[in-house]
Amino acid sequence: MNQVLVLNSGSSSIKYQLIDMDDRARLAVGAIERIGESSGAVADHAAGMKVVLAELEGALDRSQLAAVGHRVVHGGDRFRGPTLIDDEVCDAVRELIPLAPLHNPANLTLIEAARAAFPDTPQVAVFDTAFHQTLPAAAHTYAVPQSWRTDLGVRRYGFHGTSHQYVSRRAAAMLGRRPEEVNVIVLHLGNGASVCAIREGKSIDTSMGMTPLEGLIMGTRSGDLDPAIPAYIARQTGRSPEQIDQTLNKESGLLALAGSNDLRDVDTAAATGDEAAQLALDAYCYRIRKYIGAYLAALGRLDALVFTAGVGENSPTIRAGAVAGLDHLGIAVSPKRNTQQSKEERYISPYWAETAVLVVPTDEEIEIADQALAVLGGAS
Ligand code: AMP
Repeated sequence: MNQVLVLNSGSSSIKYQLIDMDDRARLAVGAIERIGESSGAVADHAAGMKVVLAELEGALDRSQLAAVGHRVVHGGDRFRGPTLIDDEVCDAVRELIPLAPLHNPANLTLIEAARAAFPDTPQVAVFDTAFHQTLPAAAHTYAVPQSWRTDLGVRRYGFHGTSHQYVSRRAAAMLGRRPEEVNVIVLHLGNGASVCAIREGKSIDTSMGMTPLEGLIMGTRSGDLDPAIPAYIARQTGRSPEQIDQTLNKESGLLALAGSNDLRDVDTAAATGDEAAQLALDAYCYRIRKYIGAYLAALGRLDALVFTAGVGENSPTIRAGAVAGLDHLGIAVSPKRNTQQSKEERYISPYWAETAVLVVPTDEEIEIADQALAVLGGAS
């Protein structure tokens, strides 16, 4: 019995993988997209889960299923690692809905559906925030009134933790060292994007904050901005907090600057002389570079800078732009290595650079499955 079903639900999608942990083979892989949208075929996450179960029919042998691993976006400051799910854990995830109003309800729906579908199989929650619970107070504290911090949970939580953890461990392995021996900066650049500073295996700072809106410029999210801007826009335009939230999360970022949230489109447009697209790329890379500088200062010593996720794994333009001008800090990419297309883990720094620059394809599903089994191993 060594199969794990991994369920990863976003606000409008469900991704699943059935993994044979003996040889790490994917027995079934699928996604239900555009849930609840007029163009989608599925009305809500409960209906989506029924489709997933129907699609798994045939591939799934219940007698071989050791665990169901759930990605849960927000674990607040309560969950520091993977957790065996019971009613109390479900209640806690529900209590955290105000901090993740789009994601935690979807995650809960899937947990409940999977518990009903597989009542005898242990279910494990793996939280996007858990890896960042090691942030020191100086890094996770916002300078706001005490009641906001203690009564309302206002602090930096950070996200993409499963990816940052997996990628930083792979980077250590590529350097031939243990995670506890290396300092790493991970650039997770996908549709959502975040940077993480990892000292000796522990996250010490990360660019996403109380929500996934802070930090880098993303596909449709603004990232960092002057906190006075939302109130200014509200006063000037009469927009509600919900509308402004929606704009900053769904209608900003590359989409607002260049008309597409897909970096490939922006890259193509910039190459044909589109000035708005070029500005979008420049701003995107400049923001990353600022965070590299900040996290170099936070870490003191850096062994590896690692690119991952859709953009980080595939875009030589962004990788080169992100480290442009950092040669004096020992960080650079070799033009030849950087432009070679590959799906493998690889070095892209030149031989003379002090710091390794790596590309590591992320694999959140295998990390969730590994953590799910680790919890069960520890419990037995
Ligand atoms: P993710 O969220 O990790 O799946 O990343 C999705 C994003 O990766 C897409 O929106 C694209 O902008 C970007 N992406 C995927 N492939 C490429 C590519 N070949 N070049 C540049 N960007 C890419």
